[in-house]
Amino acid sequence: MTRKVTRKLPTSPGPVRKRTRREGVPEPSSPDAKRRMETQARRDTAPEIAIRSAVHKRGLRFWVDRRPLPKLRRRADLVFPRARVAVYIDGCFWHGCPSHGTWPKANADWWRNKIKTNQLRDADTDRQLEGEGWLAIRVWEHEDPEKAARIIVRDVLKRIGEV
Ligand SMILES: [Zn+2]
Repeated sequence: MTRKVTRKLPTSPGPVRKRTRREGVPEPSSPDAKRRMETQARRDTAPEIAIRSAVHKRGLRFWVDRRPLPKLRRRADLVFPRARVAVYIDGCFWHGCPSHGTWPKANADWWRNKIKTNQLRDADTDRQLEGEGWLAIRVWEHEDPEKAARIIVRDVLKRIGEV
């Protein structure tokens, strides 16, 4: 699903000032970088809320922020157990959106490694879900929530045999 980008793109993070011992995450050096780093860990981002509400409006009910597979310690943003559909709303920066994902120049190696690791984990998650008969749907945060919701609803209904 490729959509025209309408929202402001994240800017590159600034240079590393120090590293926290806990996770080796570079210290955010600008308000923009700080905001983005906080957003990564946060639930209920604006795109998540918009998509959840658009799917809900279309009459489907689902779990939020749940593990689709108990044995796999990774949560999906929306989970439809009966249809076995897991929806992930991926941040453009953190998951390396091909439409406009940016590769920061400062701390390039650290960021590249971080984003690549996320992409590999995403692909592995999808594979594991498929192996268990699930469908993984990935939506970029920049996508139109209404359009994403239509696709999600269509796939869920198809899988429970209601279309
Ligand atoms: Zn994007």
